Parts: sequence; C-alpha cells; structure tokens
Amino acid sequence: MKIILLGAPGAGKGTQATRLAEKYQIPHVSTGDIFRANIKNATPIGVVAKSYIDKGQLVPDEVTVEIVKQRLAESDCEKGFLLDGFPRNTFQAEELDKFASVEKVVNINVDTTKLVKRITGRRVCQCGESYHVDFLNGKTDCAKCGKTLYQRADDNEVTVKERLSVYEKQTAPLIDYYEKAGKLVTINGDQNIDKVFEDIISSL
Ligand code: ADP
Ligand code: ADP
Ligand code: ZN
Repeated sequence: MKIILLGAPGAGKGTQATRLAEKYQIPHVSTGDIFRANIKNATPIGVVAKSYIDKGQLVPDEVTVEIVKQRLAESDCEKGFLLDGFPRNTFQAEELDKFASVEKVVNINVDTTKLVKRITGRRVCQCGESYHVDFLNGKTDCAKCGKTLYQRADDNEVTVKERLSVYEKQTAPLIDYYEKAGKLVTINGDQNIDKVFEDIISSL
C-alpha cells in the first residue's frame, strides 16, 4: 500500500494519516513532522527549513526530495507507506515517480473558507496527533500519549494566508497530475473525522 494524502493545509491529512497508518500498519511519512523534528534538534536541515516554514513558503526541493528519498529507502517502507505533505509541487511529484511507485492518491477536499479556522484552532502533540480547540473542552494534554499540546509557530493567521496561496499555486496542480495518471480519488473532507476515514478506506 503506497499512498499519498493530498490536500490543502488544514484539510485533515495528518488526522487521517495517523488512523490509516495504524489500520494498515504502514509508516506515516510527514515531511512537516520531519522538518519540525529537525528544527527541534537544531540540525543543519532544521535551520534551513525553519526560515521557510516561518514564512509559510516551501522548503527548497533539493532538501525536501532528498529527505523523502532517504526515508522511503528504509526497510519499514518496503511494504507500503503513507506520504503526508509530499509532494507539494510538480517537480517533487516527478522526482517521486523516479524512486517510488505510488498506487493511490487520496485528495482530501475542504472548502478554503473553512481552512483558516481549522488551522488557527489546531493544537498538536509531539507524537503527531492533532486536535482542534473547539473539541478539546479545555483539555491541554494529548489523549493518546499524555504530553502537553502546543500550537505550531506557523499556525497563525498571517502565515496561514501565505500557505493557502502557496497551496493554490504550487500544490493544487497535482490534482490534475494524478488524475491524468489514473491514481486520484477525491474525498469530501468536510464531514466528521470518522466519516472521512470510512470514505477513504472504501476508496482504497
Ligand atoms: P493537515 O495535516 O491537512 O494540515 P490536520 O489533520 O492537522 O490537517 O487538521 C487540521 C485541523 O482540523 C486540526 O485542528 C484537526 O483537529 C481539524 N480536523 C481534522 N479533520 C477534521 C474534520 N473532519 N472535521 C473537523 N475538523 C477536523
Ligand atoms: P500543513 O499541511 O498543515 O500545511 P505541514 O506540516 O505539512 O503542514 O507543513 C508545514 C510546512 O513545512 C510547510 O508550510 C512547508 O514550509 C514545509 N513543508 C512540508 N512539506 C513540504 C514539502 N513537501 N515541500 C516543501 N516544503 C514542505
Ligand atoms: Zn501525543
């Protein structure tokens, strides 16, 4: 099972990826999570990535593609993987085609007007789980692992606008790219989390 989760920032890729990875026992490969781990550990990649992520822009392709190529070469990705947040432009998609054969691309579709609220209300855990303040009922710890939730530095209104614009210009063309390749399925992401999950599973 080699799957890409495509969708705008806030569409629910991470939320669904966690659940799908558990169900199918395949690794969840999130470029955003990899960058954030590098930033936390102040690695050279983290230093470069931070300067772009803070502005809501894409981290340069040469850095990003190499990270994914190395990650997918690890043995746990042999039987399958879930790519979340990669590819994000046509160049990355073309490079990916050279080192992996993806079977399905799940496009999670949510109206842009709803995304700002989803992102600015997002709270995340180190373990990869994400939540929304509207559903936390004041809780501040992760229901999965107990660690304290935090708000991502780039989940502010200014950066979100830039990320959505980057998505429209650079990432949305991938819908066409994978449609032409016969790999695309589009899911209505504006339903409750369990229903979106069910729809994705039926589509696979
Ligand atoms: P992405 O990885 O695509 O950026 P996330 O999975 O982190 O998106 O979700 C963004 C925000 O929206 C989080 O606050 C999450 O709790 C919330 N969310 C995710 N899926 C849904 C859904 N189906 N309905 C309502 N809110 C959702
Ligand atoms: P979201 O889906 O909520 O926008 P991510 O965690 O996927 O968040 O990405 C956060 C940031 O990390 C992006 O805004 C971008 O700066 C960087 N990033 C993640 N994936 C890529 C990628 N494939 N190419 C370039 N930059 C990326
Ligand atoms: Zn957690």
